[in-house]
Amino acid sequence: MPPPITIPVYKPDLSGKEKSFVNECLDTSWISSKGVFINRFQDGFSKYIGAQDSIAVCNGTVALHLALLALGLGPGDEIIVPSLTYIAAVNAIHYVGATPILADSKLDTWQVDPEDVARRITPKTKAILAVHLYGQACEMESLCALAKKHNLFVIEDCAEAFGTKIGKQHAGTFGDIATFSFFGNKTITTGEGGMVTAKDPAIHKLALKLRGQGLADTREYWHDVVGFNYRMTNICAAIGLAQLERADEFIAKKRALKEKLQSELKGLPIEFHSEAPGTTHSYWMISILTQAPDQRDALRGSLRQAGIETRPLFHPAHTMPMYASNDKNLKRASDLASRGINLPSWPNLSDQEIAQIVQCIRRHFNS
Ligand SMILES: *Cc1c(COP(=O)(O)O)cnc(C)c1O
Repeated sequence: MPPPITIPVYKPDLSGKEKSFVNECLDTSWISSKGVFINRFQDGFSKYIGAQDSIAVCNGTVALHLALLALGLGPGDEIIVPSLTYIAAVNAIHYVGATPILADSKLDTWQVDPEDVARRITPKTKAILAVHLYGQACEMESLCALAKKHNLFVIEDCAEAFGTKIGKQHAGTFGDIATFSFFGNKTITTGEGGMVTAKDPAIHKLALKLRGQGLADTREYWHDVVGFNYRMTNICAAIGLAQLERADEFIAKKRALKEKLQSELKGLPIEFHSEAPGTTHSYWMISILTQAPDQRDALRGSLRQAGIETRPLFHPAHTMPMYASNDKNLKRASDLASRGINLPSWPNLSDQEIAQIVQCIRRHFNS
């Protein structure tokens, strides 16, 4: 039996105005999906990332579903998505009846490879779903150029890229529509929660309508399309607003943590997931690659024995039963997945906890 976990992979910081904002919901009895915090969170979020409008929803998976529905994607449509991703992105394509076409990743950035995306475009392709993984940005210039050439939508899954930038522009503002998650371990959290931001006002309006049961503008309790209840509660939005106020601080701390771990672990046979030139990595997860899969498992074992929790990289979707494929051109996704580790990545890790992680990894490699 391994010892109890003393350093988890993630722990949100809720020490700002979260409690007072939530108490305001309770005191005023606005606990459901109406109330002042919904708009304040949506507006604050739009301002932060530089989006026109934002739609708060109850998690990042329904955000993806809503985005694909709002673009009118469905049966017969192919949507290209990286195989190396969190499964929600691929599942959302399945929910609308479209076909996920899995693409390979780049070994240096771990993001979807635009050249492989290009190779997979067919007359049925309708969209590219770019997933910004672990806080790094996808190559949006190449992906958007491809989309323009072939008349495709671009969806950005920014669940792991809140605060990530290319140049001065935030992830989530390059494509037609973007989605975010505020799960407990994401860079800002609402417990469970998500956001959708669309560029085209008509698409925004449709997403808004579908979030709220497809309610028509013209008549009370009249529904003219099949909608959903994907709303966020005022309580979650209250937490989100408090988190948003401290977003810069969280990201700065995570970036500093990555620099510190990397410099303390210099010279070991591990490679840090790092910022691509011209981008700002938000380090949702501070991640490393070992040289071989068995080394990865051994290192994770040593850390676990020391009470330190880590995560393996996502299993590529093409290795899962629902999306299984023998495609030989997904090798890099498999390779990365077999060698990658997410280290503890929360903003308030203490110097002592960082020292414990460093000491354990150094000892593991006998150096
Ligand atoms: C977390 C995550 C999601 C899903 O968000 P939930 O809020 O957990 O539903 C989607 N895509 C990616 C890449 C994620 O990391």
